[in-house]
Formats: sequence, C-alpha cells, structure tokens
Amino acid sequence: MLLNDKTVIITGASRGIGRAAAVECARQGANVVIGYSGSASSQPLVDDLIAEIQALGRDASAVGTPAGDPETGEKLVESAVTHFGGVDVFVNNAGICPFHSFLDMPRETYLETVNTNLNGAYFAVQAAANRMKEQGTGGAIIAVSSISALVGGGMQTHYTPTKAGLVSLMQSCAVALGPYGIRCNAVLPGTIETDINKDDLADSEKRDYMIDRTPLGRLGRPDDLAGPITFLASDMAAYITGASLLVDGGMFVNLQ
Ligand code: NAP
Repeated sequence: MLLNDKTVIITGASRGIGRAAAVECARQGANVVIGYSGSASSQPLVDDLIAEIQALGRDASAVGTPAGDPETGEKLVESAVTHFGGVDVFVNNAGICPFHSFLDMPRETYLETVNTNLNGAYFAVQAAANRMKEQGTGGAIIAVSSISALVGGGMQTHYTPTKAGLVSLMQSCAVALGPYGIRCNAVLPGTIETDINKDDLADSEKRDYMIDRTPLGRLGRPDDLAGPITFLASDMAAYITGASLLVDGGMFVNLQ
C-alpha cells in the first residue's frame, strides 16, 4: 500500500495511461478524483472506472471539464476536498495529439493543443499546489510529458513543444514548491498503445518500425506507466524532485 489513504487527482483518467494510473493508485490504497473532458461518450468509461475503484475498496469522484479551461484545476481540487478532505497527489495527464503537418497547421489546432496540454496544466498544477501548501503536509505532482519532449516529429510540431514545456514546468515548480515539501516530476512515455495513436499505429509499416526501434521489442501498454507514476507519487520517491523519467522500452537511446 504505497498510497494508503492518500487522495490522488488524475486528469485524463477516463482512458489510456490516466486510467491505468488511477486503478494502480486505488490498488495502492488511494481515493481518486477522475478528470476527463466531460464528453458524453466518455461517461460510461468513467462509470466503469468508478466501479472498478470501488471494487478495490476505495472511492472515486469525477469531474468532466476541458483541461484547457483555467478553472478546471480549481474544480478538481474542490472535488477532492469535498469527497476526500484534501489533495496529496496531482497527476497532470490529459493531453491531445491531433497529428498534422507543419506548413499548413491550422491555427485552431495549434492553439487547442497548447491550451489543453500546457496552459491548462499550468493552472491546474497551481491550484493543486496552493491546496497542498495550505494543508501543510507536502505533496507530489507528476506531469505526463513524452519522449517527444526530447525528439522532434514532423507531424507533431504543435505537440512536442507542449511536452517539453511540461518538463520545464516540473523543473521550475520543483524549485518553487520544494520549500513546501511538494515534489514535482515528469514521466516521459515512449509509444504506448492507446486511443491517442490508434490511427497512426493502424499503419502496419509504422507500427513495425516503432517496435523495431524499441530494444525491449514491443510497444508500451498503459499499465507500463502505472508503476512509475505510482512510485513518483509515493514516499518511496521522497527525495526525488525535478526529475524526468523516460518510460519507453529503451526507444530514446536506440540510435544505432
Ligand atoms: P488517450 O487514451 O487518448 O486518453 C486521453 C485522456 O485525456 C482521456 O482521458 C481524455 O478524456 C483526456 N482528455 C483529452 N482531451 C481533453 C480535454 N480537452 N479536457 C479534458 N480531458 C481531456 O491518450 P493517452 O495515450 O492515455 O495519453 C495520456 C497522456 O500521455 C497525454 O498527455 C499524452 O500526450 C501522453 N503520452 C502518450 C503517449 C502514447 O504513446 N500514448 C506517449 C507519450 C505521452 P475523454 O475520454 O473525456 O476524452
């Protein structure tokens, strides 16, 4: 029980990496606030996740509002306080990656990506950190960045800067929040099979190429991130702050 009786907020927890992290945190003893976009199609997924967490003997609440809305962080914190009495861990995971070429990138696509992935994260981290400071018992903040923070992608010119920005945000927040005992770290997933890259990986040539680039010989699964996120959230990582943890099966170091 790495997170016994802790309260964990996870944005983008209805599916993929966020969902896997939510289940693992509950398995490790935490109650969970599930953030998601609020779309009607995700509601059944959220209901299933709440049931799964309750079956583990823990509880969950859900807040469906756009990650890019500067008020979303406050709403998530409010739910955590109302249902569970406070916030111990905040995982900023919600993100989008609508693949598009650079020269004809629509402004709306660029702005929506930056707003969802980075601007929203900034205000949500701020809201969680203010609550943690008020509680006076420290806390852990984890941003789900990407291997794309370190490498480029021709169809991801709007996305990679947001992921590099999240690493930078965690580094600066580690400095700003260290005096309050609040640790801030980033995880950088490689290629993890989820809805975000379903279309891209439907191309079998691209899929095989990504597998071949991965020394561990397979694409990642959402569960591959659940352990690293839970570890960074827990007291086992009590002296880790400002760090970036690649979780990519070795893809990044595989140049030749
Ligand atoms: P996913 O399966 O598509 O899940 C995305 C999650 O984010 C969903 O819960 C979704 O909620 C939520 N979300 C999307 N847009 C939102 C919005 N505007 N407001 C609030 N919530 C929103 O994707 P994933 O692969 O698990 O991605 C999670 C994070 O990992 C992202 O930040 C992504 O950049 C990062 N990442 C993924 C990979 C990968 O290979 N999969 C690699 C590196 C980094 P709804 O269900 O309500 O839409």
